[in-house]
Order: sequence, then structure tokens, then C-alpha cells
Amino acid sequence: MKVVLQETAEYKAKELLEQVDVSAFPDKWGPEKVLHTYDPKTGVQGILVIDNTARGPGKGGMRIAADVTARMVFGLARTMTWKCALSDLPFGGAKAGIRADPFKANRIQVMRSFARAVAPYVPSHWVSAPDMNVGEKEIEAFVNEVGDLRAATGKPEHLGGIPHETGTTGFGVCVSIEALLDRAKGEMHLPESLHDLTVAIQGFGNVGSELAKFLYSRGARVVAICDYWSGIFNEKGIDISSAAKFAYAKNEAQSIACYKDAEKIPRDSIFDVECDVFVPAAVGNVITMETAPRLRTKAVFEAANNPTTSEAERYLYRKGIVTFPDFLVNAGGVIGSYAEYKGQNVDEAFALIDSKIRKNAVLVLDRCLETGTMPRVVALDIAMERVAEAMVQT
Ligand code: NAD
Repeated sequence: MKVVLQETAEYKAKELLEQVDVSAFPDKWGPEKVLHTYDPKTGVQGILVIDNTARGPGKGGMRIAADVTARMVFGLARTMTWKCALSDLPFGGAKAGIRADPFKANRIQVMRSFARAVAPYVPSHWVSAPDMNVGEKEIEAFVNEVGDLRAATGKPEHLGGIPHETGTTGFGVCVSIEALLDRAKGEMHLPESLHDLTVAIQGFGNVGSELAKFLYSRGARVVAICDYWSGIFNEKGIDISSAAKFAYAKNEAQSIACYKDAEKIPRDSIFDVECDVFVPAAVGNVITMETAPRLRTKAVFEAANNPTTSEAERYLYRKGIVTFPDFLVNAGGVIGSYAEYKGQNVDEAFALIDSKIRKNAVLVLDRCLETGTMPRVVALDIAMERVAEAMVQT
């Protein structure tokens, strides 16, 4: 018993050290810079991780959350390195976190303070964007304080921004599904076109609801949806044009459960729904060894960040259920950000998302079919090859 306690204490101490000891992070890819900021006047503490800039300035959002740690920000920055490289954007990877209670802090003041601290690095080494608890108002405060509109994307429209609310990420997810169906031509037990496809979507916020609208308008059948509170199911397909008014619910009274023309199901029954494609579009770590055996689908398209544990992904693959990874599937948002950075309009952003995601999805699938390897491994290889090549040249 004593040994177990000691092990637990040691484990916790090591885990804590890893959270604070940034010298434990570096590998051959980065991070190039880890900046810990502190403003004694406001008490605001922030962490900026610029992971790799071989392909261009690090791209990645900033979040306000009480539990931000350097380790967490580093993990998110690294994912951005791969996501930007796979999308073939001239960006590297970065991320920032501000440690504050988002509901108590004055977010604009927090943002201005953090902007002053990181100003020497933007936009030369980092181009920021919104993430958790940071919206267009905070981004406006950030770019004003830095004094450069190129300091961030996700700006309000009057500053030339392309808000995520236009559905760039959901659109990209839809394109990735469509492109893979086109290419797979009935292989992997999937139908050949969206018209014959059934989809279940977990999460009905920005990504889930915009995805549902695009799928519906292109003829796919969305058979089940859930949000934080509840779910709905209709084997014949949900009429998304009327269900859409329950998107972005902030409380139970606004939940998708209030939609009448479908059977109400418990939230987590979404995992039991028979469908061709299951799309997690809510939060991380939802497809685990507890939920994976319940899935009755042919493919998983990760719209959320990091929704599947590695163990669950391997388990599904062995059962013939292929998982298409987040940094391929949900890249529509960052591609839209690049369009904004280049001064393009919404239509140009959507055209760019379509062409880039289609191309990358086909590239990944072709290599998967050739080598018999999981899409995540193939996609990571492609991203690493591109970053390594840029590192040789810089
Ligand atoms: P959101 O807050 O707008 O929506 C989240 C949805 O998930 C809501 O409907 C919420 O009710 C539901 N939800 C929360 N917890 C749940 C649970 N345990 N079970 C079922 N449903 C639950 O968020 P979003 O912007 O749509 O982002 C969703 C995911 O996509 C996140 O993982 C995010 O990191 C990722 N992502 C978002 C973007 C973007 O542009 N918004 C880009 C890339 C990745």
C-alpha cells in the first residue's frame, strides 16, 4: 500500500514537473520559443509557444482558461505545425494560452495586457486567432493593441475578417467526406456519393451545425444529432433546415431535444446509431475503449480536435472502421484564416478550402490504399516530410 502511494506521489510530481519544466519539450521539430508572460499590474499570466516556423510564421489561436499549462499549449502548437503543413499553407505552428477565469476576468483588458507582452513576435513569428473564450471582440482588442491588422485572423468583418461563424470548418469537414467518397468509389463499404450516405453528428455548435447544413444541402441523410444535453434520431433523415434553429444552444431549453420531428434519444446514444459516417464535433477524448465498441459505423471523420484515443483508433481500425484525423478533416478553419490573412473575401476563402481539402484528402487516401496504413500515420508522414524539407532550406 505504501509503495502505491509513493508511486502515485512520484508520478504526480513528475507530471507537475513536466507541466512547468519547458526544457522537457524540445525535439527535432521545436518548440523554437516558449514565452511566459506576466503583467504585475493586471496579474495576467500567459504562455506563447512558437513551435516551428520553417514554413512561415507560426499560426494558432489563443485561449483564455483557468487551467492553461505550458505543456497543454505546446501540444496544441505542435498540432498546428502538422495541420498547416498538411494543408500546404505557408505557416508554421504556434498557440497561446492566458491563465484566467474567462467568466470573471475582464477579457478585453486581459487581451490588451497579453498583446503588449507578445507584440515583438507578431506577426513576424506568430499570427494569432480565436480559440476557447476568445471571440472577434477580443481579437479586435489584440490587433489594436499590437497596432497591426496582420497580427491575427478571426477579426470582425469591418476589419476585413472572415468569422468562423461563416462555417469554414464545417464546410471543410463536408468536403473531406465528399472527396473521400469520390475517391474510394464504393471501397471501404462506403457509398459512392453523398446522396446515399447516412451520418451521425455529435455536437451541434459551430462545426457540427454548419457541417449538418452543408451535408443536407448536398443530399446526405443526417440521421442523428446530439448536443451537450440530448440527442435526436430519424432514420429517414433529419430536416436540417428546421433543426438548425436549435444550433449553438447555450442551455437545455434551447437544446436540439426541443426539435419535434425526430425521436428524442439520450445524448450518448449517438454512439449506438447505425450510420455510414460518425462525426465527433464536440469535445476531445470521446471515442475511447468504452465507446468505440458501440460504434455501428464504417468511418469516423474527426471534426473535433483529438476526439479519439490512440487505443480506440487502433481497435476501430482492426474492426475495419477507418478514422480520418482531425488535422486533415477540420483544417477548413485555418485555411479560411489564411485566406483572411491574404486579404481574400468569403467566397475566395470557401474556394480555397474546397481545393486544398479535396487535394489533401485524396493524397492521404491514395497513400493509405497503397501502403495499407492508417490515415493518421500517412497524414503525419506527409506533414513531417514538408516541414523537414522547409527546415533544410531555412
Ligand atoms: P461549440 O462550442 O460551438 O460546439 C460544441 C457542441 O458540442 C455544442 O453543441 C455542445 O452542446 C456540444 N457538446 C459539448 N460537450 C458535449 C458532450 N460531452 N457530448 C455531446 N455534445 C457535447 O464548439 P465548435 O467551435 O463547434 O468546436 C467543436 C470542436 O471542433 C472542438 O473540439 C474544437 O476544438 C474543434 N474545432 C473547431 C474549429 C472551429 O472553427 N470552430 C476549428 C477546428 C476544430
